[in-house]
Amino acid sequence: MRRVIGFLILAAILVGIAFGLGTLPGEMSATVGTYSFAASLPIVALAVIILFALLYVLIRLVAAIFGAPGRFGRGRHQRQLRQGERAVTRAFAALAAADPKAAKREADRARRLLPQSPMALLISAETARLSGKTEEAEASYRRLAEQSDSAFLGLRGLLRQALDAGDWTLAADLARRAELAHPGAPWLRAERAKLALRTGAWAEALALSGPEAPRAVMATAAADAASDAAQALRLARDAFAADPSLAPAALAYASRLRARGEERKADGVIEKAWTRGPHPDLATFYMARDSDVMARLKAADRLAKCNPEHGESHLILARAALAARLTGQARQEAQAAIAAGLDQRRVWVLRADIEEADAAAGGGEGATFAAHEALRRSQTAQPDPRWRCAACTAEQVEWHPSCPVCGTVGQVAWTNAMAPATRAGGPVITLLPGEAI
Ligand SMILES: [Zn+2]
Repeated sequence: MRRVIGFLILAAILVGIAFGLGTLPGEMSATVGTYSFAASLPIVALAVIILFALLYVLIRLVAAIFGAPGRFGRGRHQRQLRQGERAVTRAFAALAAADPKAAKREADRARRLLPQSPMALLISAETARLSGKTEEAEASYRRLAEQSDSAFLGLRGLLRQALDAGDWTLAADLARRAELAHPGAPWLRAERAKLALRTGAWAEALALSGPEAPRAVMATAAADAASDAAQALRLARDAFAADPSLAPAALAYASRLRARGEERKADGVIEKAWTRGPHPDLATFYMARDSDVMARLKAADRLAKCNPEHGESHLILARAALAARLTGQARQEAQAAIAAGLDQRRVWVLRADIEEADAAAGGGEGATFAAHEALRRSQTAQPDPRWRCAACTAEQVEWHPSCPVCGTVGQVAWTNAMAPATRAGGPVITLLPGEAI
């Protein structure tokens, strides 16, 4: 409607101008050499308008003739772009359909049509990777990594290749570069956390891991690896807070407190840990500062009171009493330990030691017989608890944050072979050698 109104206005103006010209009075004449021209003013005005119109058409014609190659080139480029995009789409479809031959054909076509396109480079790299052509894939990923827009895609591909090859140092470097290219990517954070676990960078693993990770285990390991005393103390405190029943965490914290002269606080940590999960190493640490046997017995008594019904409490009392040559009390506590569930080799061997101590002190044949009987029972008793990986059951001499055999993090627990591991400091994180993460 607006166009119609505009046209009517323009037509009215033109008619007005034509009418104005037609009513103009006067005449124009010109003389060129021996020729003379004369015409009325409206005719001259009309001739000028026609001349300008012809000139305009001529200029447009010349421009169209000279601009044709450019337009032809643009059209060709557009066609090439469309064909390239179609090739990329077909290559992705072939990849999704697990057809590497078709994917490679289309990826090569896409690279030919779109040599500078990051998508063509990416599809080419992915196709090469799936076909096992790692060098070809790496070259494409490198080119992607060199372009600012696609740097993350390239670094991601290179990182996956480094992980597949088990080159953890290179992988860690690529992960850091990828983090700079695209900060805060959740996938990258998870990969960096796994890498940190694999390389034993416990503090970094702790910082990158989510709440589902075995934080007490990682914080204990990080505290042991920390060179700065204040940082080690903070990490050990966090580890103990995360899981007070994890004996290595309690020991990591208590030992640092003791090193600072905070004995009472260290004792408090061990006592709390004893209530949650009694472990012989806790008792050893707790009684270590007392050299006198009676003082050690008193310390054992204090600690045992924190968890009086537990077999380990009776066992530490039995050992301390024997050291103090109180064989009657030692025998009573050892028996209580067995009754509390510690029908284990170490307790029967201790019973034999108690009877032998009695025999040596003049206990007679009865004591010797009791010692032999206790040793006999030790042969059929349950095995002693050990640090054992709950994932692969491999036995360890000492606690490890990750199993030295199978690489599982947080599954080395204090247990015996008769009972499955009841706790291991958190969820399982398995890092098998060569595992793709
Ligand atoms: Zn294991």
